[in-house]
Amino acid sequence: MVIQMVFENEKIKEILNYYRKIWALNHASSLMGWDLEVCMPKEGVKERSFADGELSMLTHDFITNDKFVEMVEKADALEDLNEYERGVIRVLKRDIKHAKAIPREIIGELSRVTGEATMAWREAREKNNYEKFRPYLDKIIDLERKIADYLGYEEHPYDALADLYEEGYTVRDYDKFFGEIEKPLKTLLDKIIEKWPKEHPLEEKSYNKDMLKKVNFEILKLFGYPLETRARMDVSAHPFTIGIGIGDVRITTRYEGFDFKRSLLAVVHEFGHALYELQVDSRFSMTPLVHGVSSGIHESQSRFWENIIGRSREFVNAIYPRLHEHLDIVKDYSPEDIYIYFNTVKPSLIRVEADEVTYNMHILLRYNLEKLMITGEISTKDLPEFWNEKMEEYLGIRPKDYKDGVLQDIHWSGGQIGYFPTYSLGTVLATQIGYYVKREIPDFYGKIENGEFKAIREYLREKVHRYGKMYPPKELLKRIFGEEVNPKYFLEYLEKKYLL
Ligand code: MG
Repeated sequence: MVIQMVFENEKIKEILNYYRKIWALNHASSLMGWDLEVCMPKEGVKERSFADGELSMLTHDFITNDKFVEMVEKADALEDLNEYERGVIRVLKRDIKHAKAIPREIIGELSRVTGEATMAWREAREKNNYEKFRPYLDKIIDLERKIADYLGYEEHPYDALADLYEEGYTVRDYDKFFGEIEKPLKTLLDKIIEKWPKEHPLEEKSYNKDMLKKVNFEILKLFGYPLETRARMDVSAHPFTIGIGIGDVRITTRYEGFDFKRSLLAVVHEFGHALYELQVDSRFSMTPLVHGVSSGIHESQSRFWENIIGRSREFVNAIYPRLHEHLDIVKDYSPEDIYIYFNTVKPSLIRVEADEVTYNMHILLRYNLEKLMITGEISTKDLPEFWNEKMEEYLGIRPKDYKDGVLQDIHWSGGQIGYFPTYSLGTVLATQIGYYVKREIPDFYGKIENGEFKAIREYLREKVHRYGKMYPPKELLKRIFGEEVNPKYFLEYLEKKYLL
């Protein structure tokens, strides 16, 4: 295959040729990751973890290879690179920096500790026994602090970790961001809870899994998800999306057996992630630019489809005939009932079940606790109590046990400290995109109601997707909106939707 015209510089072409080895290892490891979640026999896990560890070390060796590093540094000094080529160098410099800054022993230890911690976390959650998990959490926090030191930061150790998931975002950014959300959201939430339905009978009703599967696939077809050629949907314990290649993007959902919106809206959410991966400029295939740029921008895409489209009246109207045809339990309800069902608002203990109004409060809580853990201002011993107090402060409810409180998320056991705020960033950005989309696509909601999604897909391709990793998140946002993330759109969206 020929590297196409976007990359013209001979030095860059050399770098991209070398990079294909790294790309191929990532390709294999993505497919192995998908297989692990979707169809691997249980007892394959030990060998798979070993194989995956070996692949990561090979990748590490290729990235930190002296000749490669020198090639990248030399290219970085060139003055006549185009924007695509600059993007390649920016991404590779980051990869090299991350790979070189953290000693191999630390990476090895983190991978061993998080492997054990994830197993301990599962058991601790099942048995509602926080003390079983706590020693692992201590080790992980200690390692994450070391990693922050190795990576370096200017103001706050959390900055180094946050940057891993959202390039360029710091405590300063996130404090400002959450500072603008916290109080107005609390005020809105109090008002919404007073007047808006908190629950719906369908939340308790069982459904026929095969029939819901039909509905989910029909929705994907309606969206234009290329199931016949470039994409799949399977089942896994936790829904996710993986871009294995530009011609191979996969999503999953789950079928809990009751409360069908969980499964259906997970499909809509993951479709948003998948569309991003599918619509990156195809000339970026097998280069460092080929994926979505960051966790937060990725989440903005999934949340846009889930919240702005999936939870709209017009979307419910568009899919209602299919729901009515396939799901017996829907027969007693009108489209307006289903709209309410998709949008009930209630403070709840579990983040992944939270509605779009309360969701950011769950994240704010985690963000605050992570910062305090990284600086050592709170110990893991006091963590559950802090958690419960914050829950009470933000949402007015208090967990009765650990599994509905501090033990509910997998992230910390996997060493992912600094990830949570990207969920809020994405949720807010989705409404910001919603604002501009409505302004720029004539009859946006009419199109949704008619099941026409092409103009929306094209808009997202043009504004966001095609760039892949070319620009760092903050720069990409300036290009899209002429401004950075702005919580005002989120607050206005909620007010208009729930209170007017
Ligand atoms: Mg997501």
